[in-house]
Formats: sequence, structure tokens, C-alpha cells
Amino acid sequence: MSGYDFDLFTIGAGSGGIRASRRAAAFGARVAVAEQRFLGGTCVNIGCIPKKLFSYAAHFKKDLEDSRGYGWSIHQLTFDWRSLLDAKNREIERLNGVYRNLLNQSGVELIWGRATVTGPNTVDVDGRTFTSKYILVATGSSPTLPEIEGAEHCITSDDAFYLDKLPKRVVVVGGGYIAVEFASIFNGLGVDTTLVYRGDRLLKNFDADLGNFLAEQMSKRGVRIRFDTTIRKVDRDGTALSCVTGDEERLSCDTVLYATGRLPNTAALGLESVGVALAANGSIVVDDVFQTAQPSIYAVGDVIHRMQLTPVALAEGMLVADHLFNNGAEHMDYDGVPTAIFSHPNVAIVGLSEEEAFQSGYTVDVYRSIFTPLKHTVSSSGEKVLLKLIVDRESDRVLGVHMVGDDAGELLQGFAVAIKCRATKAQFDTTVGIHPTIAEEFVTMRTKVAA
Ligand code: NDP
Repeated sequence: MSGYDFDLFTIGAGSGGIRASRRAAAFGARVAVAEQRFLGGTCVNIGCIPKKLFSYAAHFKKDLEDSRGYGWSIHQLTFDWRSLLDAKNREIERLNGVYRNLLNQSGVELIWGRATVTGPNTVDVDGRTFTSKYILVATGSSPTLPEIEGAEHCITSDDAFYLDKLPKRVVVVGGGYIAVEFASIFNGLGVDTTLVYRGDRLLKNFDADLGNFLAEQMSKRGVRIRFDTTIRKVDRDGTALSCVTGDEERLSCDTVLYATGRLPNTAALGLESVGVALAANGSIVVDDVFQTAQPSIYAVGDVIHRMQLTPVALAEGMLVADHLFNNGAEHMDYDGVPTAIFSHPNVAIVGLSEEEAFQSGYTVDVYRSIFTPLKHTVSSSGEKVLLKLIVDRESDRVLGVHMVGDDAGELLQGFAVAIKCRATKAQFDTTVGIHPTIAEEFVTMRTKVAA
């Protein structure tokens, strides 16, 4: 046992911090975690969980509309934003309680307050000093607002979870995860929605087919998408806002949501003064065991800006605890991390895009299928799904599985296992499908896209 107050002092009770702390405590370490705001971090409070609840809420309108094709008639469809907020807040309070119990049960001491690192082995929390053999920084990231005139009139996803009123007209700026998710949510809830993106393809970092197909499907559902458009300033006139584009066009709305990336929360933590190196974007530089330039200080999750995904932060947190308190020697494998975007329709991927495979030197065969799923033959919504496989011609290994369509996230988790097991196209082909499903198409695609 060390002569310090704790063996591990974690700053930030989000996904990565809580997981690392509980795991370390399970190995017998004396652990404290400091938190200034809420238990569970971004994911539980202002990220994945409330976003998914909003996404479910937004889906019902279309589901009800689709049901007409099946003989249902719905009269007087109304939606109450306040009820949704209350339900969401209740669920989050419940989850906060679950996290509190998990920490208690694992023997981790929870210290409320703003923590700063004051030395390689000391942390100050609102004037109280604690010593620890190791310090883990797991402070996450925050969304950013642009430096444009009128930025103070705009909101980020943090605010979108607490809006007093559902806007009537919204402009969402960005073309990544949060922009397409929130544009879909607002549109699904009946808000007049415009998505403004500076580039010419949504989800630029994904396979090109996905962004193009998603834009088509979102447009069909009513989202107005403005490509190659920038916002120069935002004017307010009473409660009305007006986004002035680079071409001097005015887009009127009552809410402007910026979803243009998240930056690591490293400001005013005292990190540089104790020798922790930061990258240009403010993220903490760590090695392959998450150790910073100051050997007693480690960091995981969004604050290291590798993959800003909850399950990745959880895995990183587990590895740090294993490494420090269980002689663990495993390293994080960032290959084959699946991810889903809860736009409407959903997007999910695992493995390489066609472009990435090409850039990695593979010669690939591509299988792509776009079709109307059975459900929508009768719903008459015109909705289609896109499935795509990228296969290494030499080894026959499936390098990437991609989907845009209902429940893509649910569906791709199983394929992520197959990719992890280095499954071949021949093995996909000998797998018997489940009929009638969308997913069966993944094991029945036989025709290559012409090179
Ligand atoms: P993303 O990095 O996904 O997207 C940012 C978008 O903003 C891009 O389209 C980018 O354009 C655009 N952009 C960046 N800077 C500007 C600017 N100055 N002016 C106009 N547009 C700009 O970030 P998000 O904020 O959507 O999400 C942050 C991260 O959070 C994600 O990358 C993801 O890791 C995580 N996340 C995960 C979710 C999930 O798992 N479902 C859900 C939500 C977030 P360009 O493409 O041209 O650079």
C-alpha cells in the first residue's frame, strides 16, 4: 500500500473515469473520483442516452404515418415536448442514482467539486488537497461554438437537451454525428429543419455511399439540406433568428444548433504546470498504455481525442486499471470499433470504408445493395436501405460492413464480432439468412459492384 491518500485519483465521473475507478477498486486499489457536475458524464446526461430517447420520440411520428399503409387511421396526432423532457429527466436521474450506487458498492470514494492537478501526485478539490500514487484524467469533451458574429444566439447539443420550448424552425450546422442526429430528431418531432453543411457530403469521414444515401433519405423525410453553405453571422430580432450565409442569403429560424465538433476539457486543470503534454487541439497526449508525459498521470476517453465514443472510453478505462493494478499488458485495439449514428435512418459501420481500404493498399471487391425493405413496401413511405460490404480480393476477408437503415446500430453489432474474427466473404455466403429480414441481405449479396 502506498503512503498516499489513494492509489488512484480519477478526475471526472463519466464513462471512462467511472469504469477505470470501479475496476481499479475491484483489484484492491484505494480509489477516489472527483466530479463537479453529474454522474455518468456526457453520455448519460447530455449525450448518448437522452439523445437516443429523443430519437425514439422522433421516430414515433413516422411510425404512426407508416402505419396508415397497414390499415390504421390516426386522428389528432399531438406531441408535448414538456412530457418528453420530464420523462427524459426522470430516466437520467435514475441513471445518476445507479452510478452513485455502483461507486458506493465498489468502495470508490466520490468527492464532489472542481478538481485541479497541483503536482504529479496531488489534486486540489475546491481547496481540499488529496495525494494519490496515480492520477487519471477523464474529463471528457465539450461542444464548441463558432467565432462568428451572433454566436451567442446559438446553442450546442448541451443546450438542446434542456430547451424550454420545442422550436418551430431550426437551423442545424454541421455534417457529422451530432448534426445529422439532431436534424433528424427535430424533423421527426415536427420542427421545420434545415441542415447547413460547409462541405458537399454528409459524414465526410465515412464511406462516401453512406453520406450520399443518408442525405437522400433525410431529404425525403423533410430535412432541408444546404450543402456548400457557411454561416457568416447570426442576427437576432426579438425571438426570431436569421442566419446570414456566405452568399448573403438569410435563413430564418428560432433556434440555431451548432454541431461542429467537440474539444477536450483540459482548460484550467493545471496539467501543463505538472508536465502533462497537450496537443494543439488541447487533448492530452498519451502513450499506448494511456500514460501522459508525467509518469504518474494517465488519461482516457474524449480528453485524449482518439475516438470520442463511450464504449471506447470504457475499454480504455478498463485497460488503465488492468495495467496499473493487475499487471495487465494488453493494449487497446482501435481496429474494428463499430459505431452507429442515430440519424433517421440510422447509419452503422464496422471496419474499413471503400476509400480507407484503397488507401491501405487493398484491392477490394465491393458488394452493395439498395432496396425497399418489406415493411416499407406496404407503408408506402418510399424508404430504402443501403447495405455495403468491402472485401479484400486476395484473402477474401470482409474488411468493412456498412449500413443505412432502420436499426442499423442493432444489426451491426453482430457483424462487428464477425469482423473481429476476421470472417471471409465465403463464410458470410455459407451463413444461412434469417428470413424475412433486412440483415439477411448481408449473407446473400453475390453480385460485385462493377470496378
Ligand atoms: P463531428 O466531428 O462528427 O462533425 C463535425 C462537423 O462539423 C463536420 O461535418 C465538420 O465539417 C463540421 N465543422 C467543423 N468545424 C466547422 C466550422 N468551423 N464551420 C462549419 N462546420 C464545421 O463532430 P460532432 O460535433 O458531430 O460530434 C463530436 C464527436 O462526438 C463525434 O465525432 C463522435 O465521435 C462523438 N459522437 C458520437 C455519437 C454516436 O456514437 N452516435 C453521437 C454524437 C457524437 P467537415 O466534415 O467539413 O470537417
